[in-house]
Amino acid sequence: MNKRVLSLILAVILTLFLVACNGSTQQTEPQDSTAPSAEYVEASTEAQSDVLEWVQCGGYTWDEDEPVKNIILMIGDGMGENIIKNAEIVKGAEHATSFMPYSCYVGTDSLSGTTDSAAASTALSCGVKTKNQYIGVDGEGTPVETIVEFAKARGMKTGLVDTHIIPHATPAGMVAHDNYRGLYNDILKQMLNAQVDVLFGGGTEYSDTPKMQARIENAGYTYIKTVEELSTLSADSKAIGVFSYYDLNSNVNPSLTTMTQKALELLEGDEGFFLMVEASHIDIYEAEQDMDATMVEMQAFDKCIDYTLRWAQDHPGTLVLVTADHETGGVIVPESGLPEDVNNDCFTSGGEHTSTDVKLFAAGAQAGNILTQDKIENTEIAMIMRKVLNDTYGEKPVTLLN
Ligand SMILES: [Zn+2]
Repeated sequence: MNKRVLSLILAVILTLFLVACNGSTQQTEPQDSTAPSAEYVEASTEAQSDVLEWVQCGGYTWDEDEPVKNIILMIGDGMGENIIKNAEIVKGAEHATSFMPYSCYVGTDSLSGTTDSAAASTALSCGVKTKNQYIGVDGEGTPVETIVEFAKARGMKTGLVDTHIIPHATPAGMVAHDNYRGLYNDILKQMLNAQVDVLFGGGTEYSDTPKMQARIENAGYTYIKTVEELSTLSADSKAIGVFSYYDLNSNVNPSLTTMTQKALELLEGDEGFFLMVEASHIDIYEAEQDMDATMVEMQAFDKCIDYTLRWAQDHPGTLVLVTADHETGGVIVPESGLPEDVNNDCFTSGGEHTSTDVKLFAAGAQAGNILTQDKIENTEIAMIMRKVLNDTYGEKPVTLLN
């Protein structure tokens, strides 16, 4: 064997050795970097047992004759009629909304055309059509009375629960006034100034800054960040629960149902209340054209609506309204009606919002008296809530808290 052959053999052995080392490094490295922390595994497993199962809905009976003392407005962000139909195909049974005895179609366009969540929330809360990105202001940028301000003027308690960051567009439009929906620090500040009794959602990115911490304390709130601390809250103090750095989907605790359950416990009382509950991630996964993830969020919302409808059954004087701010995804229902065909091909708008009408469903106190047309504009939902609350609590001057 000459030198050249020997060095060639050595080179091959060295190369194989290096490849082997490299290969083993490549195998272990991604495992280490992607391995979830023990804490995260625990949280997500618990959340899944809480959410990832369709509930059996139905068998509800409501007293419709009582005057409206409490309103629970439930919003599925981007929850068009067809995503509900698709959820029923996957569930193999009716969605909770199908048991709500009254419904109509709702037009959602804003002054900008197809709406965003900000203009839609402003319409539902204030009763005015406005431009996209606008929060609690009309098309000229002038502040208009929000539903939280309206309720507070009547001595009612108020709550906002969502799975996005607390100052996100939909909860923002219920209370704040700004010409731009992205001013999260200012919106959160306005929510605290307005003394909303219960604020649950995500976004410690905004609430954990020293400045905001001082504001939370000065505004007299109890501030919590974990599911366990929910049990420490009492109705004696206003509560802000911020359970994640940014948003909370159905794989993160607490679930929308858990937050709603606690909010109802804290708000229930002689004063009456307005509570908004938003399933924020239906829209997010429709925008990503991810049907499986959308279905998980629809499942979570179905469960939360079922819980709320049963709560309303046991609390006469409660009106439950379920609607959407807009349709997202141009969702179609598969002709086959088969669960396996409810897939990503059902999205036809490239993940964009559409102008397709959404539905409004009503159950509980006065529900049979409020929907008199087959189709209304989203602004009329704000007017319906004002009408029934004025009947109970009387007219009051317009109130702006910010
Ligand atoms: Zn939206």
